[in-house]
Amino acid sequence: MQINSPQLTSGWGNNFHSLSSRAAASTVEQIQELVSTSKSVRGLLPIGLHRSYGDSALNSGGTLIDLAAFNGISIDMQSRTAVVGAGVTVAALERAALEKSLFPPVVPGTGFVTMGGAIAADIHGKSHHRTGSFSQCVRRITLMLASGGIVNLTPNDPEFWATVGGLGLTGVVIEIEIELHALQSNSVDVIEHRVKNLSEMIELLNRSDNDYEHTVAWIDLSGDYRGRGVVSLGNYGSTPVKAKESESTGPSLPSLAGKNFITPLTVSAFNEIWYRKPLKDGAVALTKYMHPLDGISHWNRIYGDTGFLQYQFVIDIGKEEIFDRLFRGLRDLKAASFLGVLKKFGNASQAPLSFPRSGWTLTLDYSMAVPGLEQFLRGFDEELVAAGGRVYLIKDSRVSPELIPLMYPQINQWRDIRRTMDPTGLWQSDQARRLHLC
Ligand SMILES: Cc1cc2nc3c(=O)[nH]c(=O)nc-3n(C[C@H](O)[C@H](O)[C@H](O)COP(=O)(O)OP(=O)(O)OC[C@H]3O[C@@H](n4cnc5c(N)ncnc54)[C@H](O)[C@@H]3O)c2cc1C
Repeated sequence: MQINSPQLTSGWGNNFHSLSSRAAASTVEQIQELVSTSKSVRGLLPIGLHRSYGDSALNSGGTLIDLAAFNGISIDMQSRTAVVGAGVTVAALERAALEKSLFPPVVPGTGFVTMGGAIAADIHGKSHHRTGSFSQCVRRITLMLASGGIVNLTPNDPEFWATVGGLGLTGVVIEIEIELHALQSNSVDVIEHRVKNLSEMIELLNRSDNDYEHTVAWIDLSGDYRGRGVVSLGNYGSTPVKAKESESTGPSLPSLAGKNFITPLTVSAFNEIWYRKPLKDGAVALTKYMHPLDGISHWNRIYGDTGFLQYQFVIDIGKEEIFDRLFRGLRDLKAASFLGVLKKFGNASQAPLSFPRSGWTLTLDYSMAVPGLEQFLRGFDEELVAAGGRVYLIKDSRVSPELIPLMYPQINQWRDIRRTMDPTGLWQSDQARRLHLC
């Protein structure tokens, strides 16, 4: 099994680089060989497509195991289930399922996420208020433990829930069995509404829970930060549409010589155009609706060499006043966000480290070059925790370790189960070390 010499790797935010070796495994035996011969104190980490923003999929001084070759998909029409390899992308599963008028019930904002990454983050999509997170449609996970042994885990096993949202730290997901949703067509019936401020946005999202399977709002966090935006509501449709492939077909943003094109001016101009764009009212291709940015690959290059961070948190219903505090602080810093998204979550899964739980989740992107941003967010993290909120670890590269037990109060339960699955600490990541997770 060949292990490539160390090279610099970063997450999607390109804000943190780490030097690690990499091995592309194509058989279970090859992963077992890596496990049995690993001598590095920095251990091993399974990875997908590095769509996590921060340091979840990095392991400096250790070895990353690339599972792209685990790309099998088999769909059983009768039971409406798919058995997929860990390296299968959401986009590939969508394509195979659509041919049979089926679709994964939970998909994230990009199709370039692997099944392994989807489990490790317990990802959520626009349907969370109805379907919950990814784990809710997973029937089985086949996992390689630190011993090299293979186990099949179902939702009856505590190890299943430790692996869901477990950030790759319980073992290598090799295969999963997932339930699919039956479709009438390849479209979503979408209706968009322009709203003038945050209260209107919240009110409309609250009202739409019962009537729409997919809800999300784009929020303008530039200019005066009133929280104006566009609310998008959708239901699986019955009108077939011509769907453009979502994978690798769009243009790729060139490297832009490492320059950061995100300034308060460019962001405000973009947000103004987005706010005024014609509103959708009708059938839209499912894949296009679910993954609006996938038409442009490497869009993260727009932030240049310094990279960016995505800050996503969830806060209980009734704690909305925290948004005012956040918006005021960001306005004072002149920190304009290119992509703000507000979504109402439904119920949490039972995984101790799963992020989504009932409440509001807000997602913001910021260039790392904004002066004072880190200091402000450190203060805001504390207020968030005091208000009972938490950040999404798969997007994180900066939160303080002391806040983790407050954000994720079941972490000790997770640690206990993890220890039985990996007593020697084979699975490691930069994030796990930074946040003292294990
Ligand atoms: C444009 C964009 C939009 C996004 N939208 C959403 C969204 O709507 N909702 C959402 O929840 N997330 C979203 N994300 C985040 C993304 O879904 C997660 O970061 C996901 O984990 C990335 O998967 P990946 O295959 O790239 O894995 P990587 O980033 O390579 O790895 C992520 C984690 O998964 C672990 N892992 C990977 N493969 C395996 C395996 N086989 N076994 C065990 N562990 C494994 C890694 O160790 C690491 O901890 C978005 C990301 C981007 C870039």
